[in-house]
Amino acid sequence: MRAEPAVTDEELAQLRETARRFSIEELRPAYQTREDEGRFDRVLIRRMGELGLIGPELPARFGGLGLTNVASGIVVEQIAYGDFNVAYVLSSGSLIGQILAQHASDELASLWVPRIVEGDALVAIAVTEPDTGSDAARLSLKAVRKGDRYVLSGEKTSISIADQAEAFVVFARTGTKDEGARGISAFLVEADRPGLSRSRLADLGSKAVGRGSLFFDDLEIPSGNRLGPEGRGFVQVMNGFDFNRAFIGLMCIGAAQASLDETWRYAVDRQAFGAPISSYQGVTFPLADLEAQLHAARQLCLHTLSLRDAGAPTPPRLRCASCSRREPRSKQFASACSPMVTMAGRWTFPISSGCATSWVWRLATARRRS
Ligand SMILES: Cc1cc2nc3c(=O)[nH]c(=O)nc-3n(C[C@H](O)[C@H](O)[C@H](O)COP(=O)(O)OP(=O)(O)OC[C@H]3O[C@@H](n4cnc5c(N)ncnc54)[C@H](O)[C@@H]3O)c2cc1C
Repeated sequence: MRAEPAVTDEELAQLRETARRFSIEELRPAYQTREDEGRFDRVLIRRMGELGLIGPELPARFGGLGLTNVASGIVVEQIAYGDFNVAYVLSSGSLIGQILAQHASDELASLWVPRIVEGDALVAIAVTEPDTGSDAARLSLKAVRKGDRYVLSGEKTSISIADQAEAFVVFARTGTKDEGARGISAFLVEADRPGLSRSRLADLGSKAVGRGSLFFDDLEIPSGNRLGPEGRGFVQVMNGFDFNRAFIGLMCIGAAQASLDETWRYAVDRQAFGAPISSYQGVTFPLADLEAQLHAARQLCLHTLSLRDAGAPTPPRLRCASCSRREPRSKQFASACSPMVTMAGRWTFPISSGCATSWVWRLATARRRS
């Protein structure tokens, strides 16, 4: 892996501050509107691109800032602090941007990576099928070579931004079923190709991201849209998922931190028995405990990204980072919501919208490696 120039503390602090201000001032106010509409606001996504917040670790020759994955992870957390859904654009932009930068032809990468970084295009990743989720090596969508083209037929499901994306990185079977993971290849499929239709699933939360199915009806693509050699697709996607789990972890941590901060403010303002409820240890001890868990989960995710920056393989135990970070968030919501929801007696605080989102994303990173 190419060594990236070291990012200075000052640069990192500046990038973090830019992301935080954008998140609080421009994303947070209309978070719920976008969630209700079930769509991203493309003007905001382009603005993130202008600010250099999408894929800052991607190479400068493709429009990125050439920073580190750690820098990118820090930005992801800050954006999730204001809007968990919009942070998905960053985590998937990094995952797919890196796959394209490393495995697509120069021509294809030069076309799509800059569009991702500028916030001009959303590109989705399509692995899951109706019959294969965690056990991705068994996927069966077919890509049959015909001269200088491939013909794709089959179905993908549970695909994030299925109905909003301009293109998809699709994992398809070019070999036989018996070849398992070795018979899978990756392709870039533009959303406007004849033979592709899409539909939307009904989700509990994260509706601005949304999930859906893709139907490939003898869809043709040039062989130049293949990413890397035939049969290497599974390795590419699993390499990507190893570090993307850390990004999704930081998304959850950002949203959890926002909820926890909100809860602290409420505990300081709310009076009971002549004192703010924050003066009662029964209220504050669980919150302090959650702060500690969030700090620990954040360090684990950033450590995973620093290993990626160093070109070191992610040790299997760190792949579990995605599990560790999901638990604090779920526990945090259960605990943090209780003083706010039960005491205020309603379900209208921004924190409550995070509950549904949290549950929807619990499954998203479950995947076996072989
Ligand atoms: C919000 C969200 C967004 C998503 N976005 C995308 C996307 O953009 N692109 C994409 O391709 N997919 C996406 N997915 C699909 C996701 O990757 C799959 O849901 C995931 O791989 C699990 O597959 P499954 O739902 O079929 O569960 P299954 O594979 O059927 O598993 C069901 C349960 O059994 C458990 N399980 C399975 N095997 C084992 C085992 N060996 N040991 C122990 N437990 C096991 C699983 O952990 C899970 O709890 C998304 C899912 C969600 C929820």
